[in-house]
Parts: sequence; C-alpha cells; structure tokens
Amino acid sequence: MNAFANIAGTSSACAASGAFVRNAGSYMYRKLEKLYISLFTYINEKKTMKIGTHAGHGKAGLGAIGAVSILNESIENRLINAEIIKLLLANSITVYDNTVDVGTKTEILNEIIANCNYRTTDLELSIHFNAGVGDTKGNGATTGVECFVYNTASATAKIADRINRKIAAFGFKNRGVKDGKHLAFVSKVKAPAILIEVCFVDDKDDAELYQKTGCQAIAKAIVEAVLNKK
Ligand SMILES: [Zn+2]
Repeated sequence: MNAFANIAGTSSACAASGAFVRNAGSYMYRKLEKLYISLFTYINEKKTMKIGTHAGHGKAGLGAIGAVSILNESIENRLINAEIIKLLLANSITVYDNTVDVGTKTEILNEIIANCNYRTTDLELSIHFNAGVGDTKGNGATTGVECFVYNTASATAKIADRINRKIAAFGFKNRGVKDGKHLAFVSKVKAPAILIEVCFVDDKDDAELYQKTGCQAIAKAIVEAVLNKK
C-alpha cells in the first residue's frame, strides 16, 4: 500500500472517488488529493447551514435574569431555545447554542456575543420576551411580537418579518421588524442577527395566548420562518 492509498483509505471524502484512488502513487497525485479533500470539505461545509441560537439573559439562581411578571422570561427563553435547537438539528442544520447561564447582565451579554463571534455562522438568533406594557389584568388585546435586526431593508429583515408573521398567526399582534442597532447583540454580532421578542411577560392577553400556544409551537414557527417553510 503506497502513501497515497493510506491517505485515501482514511478519507471518507476520497472514498467517494474510486477513479482518483486507483491511479494514485505519485507526488503530484498526493498533492492533488490534498487539494481535492480541502475542496470537498469546503463545499460540504458551505452546503450545511450553520445557525447559532441562544436564550436571552441568565438562568434563575445562577445569573442576572430577564423580565419577570406573569411569565418569567429567562425560563421561557430557555424552553423555546431548546425546542429551536431540536428542530434545526432535525432539519440537518449545524447548530450552536450560545446561551450563557451565569454572570451579571453585562457579563452574560458579552459572553453571548463572544460565543456568536467565535464561529462563522449563517444566522444568529436571540430569544427574548418583552416587558413594560403593564397590562397584567388583560384588556382583551395582545401587545404582541417584534423582531430587531441591524438593517430593516436587509435579507435578514425578511427572515425576521417571516418570524413575526408566523408568530402573529397564533393571534399575537405583529409589531413589526425594528432597527436594533442600539442592541449589543444586533450591532456586535458579525453574522446576520435577529433578536426575537416573542410577546410581553406583563400582558395577561399575551401570557394566556402564549401558554395556550406553547413553547414548542412558537419554536416550530420560528424554525419554519428561518428555513422559509410554509
Ligand atoms: Zn430579554
């Protein structure tokens, strides 16, 4: 067995090309095979979509948590994020979970951004819930869903719009795709980034509709929107 056959034998990439292996033996062929493997790996990596996702804020008892009212944001963020990961994996997507459980608000945010920028991905998602409407008694109308992106005229904004529409289809008001340049995650992450505010934790109508809909259905809606599935 010559040197080339050894290389070929250990490479699943090359195993696909029988002709290449049979004519092997020379220095030139070894060089060519190396190039072939690099190219094969490169093309395959390009084929596989890579998505990073995380639950916003820290975990209760470990780090600074998010908004708490009728719903606890940190808990729901994690439930949805876990479902998103499952669904993306089921769709053969390479997934990175950039969630950070421990730390102060700033430490967690900085570490999430560092996690996102550590790898090159096609998209980064950040799962959050909104707060501030104070409708804890309920007024019969939801305050709703919104997404933040860096550029509201970008291809990323189109994905964000699909996310809003899919979640709004459950009955949440669609608050639109908004300029998120003021948000560290949106402005500092190199990959196209979408911060999703699923609904309001302090709106009884939102909370009830969210609980009725369930984290799995919300995650499914987000993944279908990202993958542009009907
Ligand atoms: Zn949040």
